[in-house]
Amino acid sequence: MTTIDTPALSNTITDATAATNAPIIHSNPAQAALYIVATPIGNMGDITSRAIDILNQVDIIACEDTRTSGKLLSNFGISTQTWAYHEHNSEIQTPKIIEMIQRGHSIALISDAGTPLISDPGYQLVQAAHAAGVKLVPVVGASAAIGALSVAGLPSDKFSFVGFLPAKTHGRVKQLEQYAARTETLIFYEAPHRIVASLKDMAAVFGDNRPATLCRELTKTFETVKKATLGELAQFVEADNNQQKGEIVLVVGGDVNHTSDDDSVHDKLLLRLLEDLSVKKAAALASDITGVKKNALYQRLLELQDK
Ligand code: SAM
Repeated sequence: MTTIDTPALSNTITDATAATNAPIIHSNPAQAALYIVATPIGNMGDITSRAIDILNQVDIIACEDTRTSGKLLSNFGISTQTWAYHEHNSEIQTPKIIEMIQRGHSIALISDAGTPLISDPGYQLVQAAHAAGVKLVPVVGASAAIGALSVAGLPSDKFSFVGFLPAKTHGRVKQLEQYAARTETLIFYEAPHRIVASLKDMAAVFGDNRPATLCRELTKTFETVKKATLGELAQFVEADNNQQKGEIVLVVGGDVNHTSDDDSVHDKLLLRLLEDLSVKKAAALASDITGVKKNALYQRLLELQDK
């Protein structure tokens, strides 16, 4: 049970200034450190017993959104004091949190769902903790990216987490082009109102036939896990409004048509073409000759040029 002797009457303090000098007494204190605590991505049963212990024992819980986390905390009977910590106040809160820990207090960071820092706030705080020599403790648990990868049915030995793509088509296509020739599995987060547009852009850049898995509302009532090609997924989601709701991870297979032998032949060809042609013309000609997508060759040419 947590006992906090603080002048603040509210359990939620959004301005750290008021609490920085408050004495905090715990019957079962956690060691002074910054605890990065994963919380469920939907199903409350996915919280770990260690996460509950730590959230009960720390002096302060820094939350991305105190109201959202308040529901989770009350669900588990956790009455630890909360502070807001998000991208708009991180500059002010970071030094205060670090100072609290240096004074011997323990602080946990949680986000609205899943693992903090994974497309969520916390990087600045963790960086500052390292710089100040503050102890960091990961309290591991759910993350939508890893949950999706575990059921995607796509190679999981090598993968890249891309996170959210740019919201506008031009920026999105440009970023997708950079990943077109990557051979590892790619993990994307996407907002429901952009899922159709993103799937269409992916099909255009990676090819209609690239395998992919739509992972929607994982661990929740309307969970969907559907593996198909990008072209089929774009049609499936566009035809069913329900698939354009909730939270979505897209796992996309890598460009496995590239063998390393092919790559070295392509590189030789590209280097030769670069001697006489611009990058754009070399990519177009090489694409005609090899059948490999022009965007992928363009990207490779830029890499070769930098070497
Ligand atoms: N930190 C979180 C994590 O560890 O997964 C991610 C936070 S990010 C702001 C939110 C995005 O994660 C959503 O837009 C969606 O892409 C993905 N996501 C979160 N929960 C999900 C779920 N239950 N099912 C599918 N995707 C989810």
